[in-house]
Amino acid sequence: MSAVPGVWIASGQPVQVPTEPDAEDFLELDTVDDATLLDDITSMIRNKYENTPRHQQRYMGPSEIGHPCPRHIALRLMDEDGCNVGGDPWPSIVGTACHTWLEQAAQEWNEHLGRERWITERRVSPREGLDGSCDLYDIDTATVLDWKVPGQSRMAHYKRHGPGAVYRAQTHLYGAGFVKSGLPVTSVGIVFMPRAGQLRGAHLWREPYDPAVAQAVFDRVDNVSVLIHDLDVEHHPENYEHIPVVPGEGCDYCPFWSPNPKNSRQCAGTTGPAALLIAG
Ligand code: SF4
Repeated sequence: MSAVPGVWIASGQPVQVPTEPDAEDFLELDTVDDATLLDDITSMIRNKYENTPRHQQRYMGPSEIGHPCPRHIALRLMDEDGCNVGGDPWPSIVGTACHTWLEQAAQEWNEHLGRERWITERRVSPREGLDGSCDLYDIDTATVLDWKVPGQSRMAHYKRHGPGAVYRAQTHLYGAGFVKSGLPVTSVGIVFMPRAGQLRGAHLWREPYDPAVAQAVFDRVDNVSVLIHDLDVEHHPENYEHIPVVPGEGCDYCPFWSPNPKNSRQCAGTTGPAALLIAG
């Protein structure tokens, strides 16, 4: 044993081991109050979130392109900066973490079966220039599935009313992508997993695959693209005003929503938070 504090001799080799912290070090730690420590923790979480490529993505993929509002599509296609962004990232973080866990669960179940039943995170392209990663494809039933992890009120809404237009279109777009890649698709669906709840609260929405749903999305996007060109919004952004709006519950999450629009790239919608503020 060495006489030098912090150094222990093993097999004749000196090894440096950490010295015991002084009592003052603990006193130093005590000066960090709970609010400051919690701030450090949430900053660490935000840093990870903001540096995840998925959250920096500006490309409009199948999860968004089925939006029913032409103005929203136009502003996104033109990659305009949103004014209703930067909300609390936690729901998204939980959703992403759940997706990773569920993907592993499906792969482990394939190993358990000794065959591939579930295809996970398959990159599909419903049409040229549009692609995305589909959460799950069930080979046994030729079903395309997407995971959603909503909060309590949205979960109740989806159980009662089914998915909105954007989610529904997303599943049919993935369906079109799988068909293009040579796999059969008989149905598309969404597995809603409660963000605040239990496994028995999971809900499956499913309907027959209909290529007309994806085609309607392509037609709407093409029409908006023609408008963008004809109105020359790149040089005359004031012309965004001439692109129709279709307000709805999606306005809550629209990056261009503002209760007091300051320019033609912002929109009050007529429902969602705008309506609540106006009504209030
Ligand atoms: S706020 Fe609503 S109406 Fe306005 S562009 Fe967004 S989705 Fe369309």
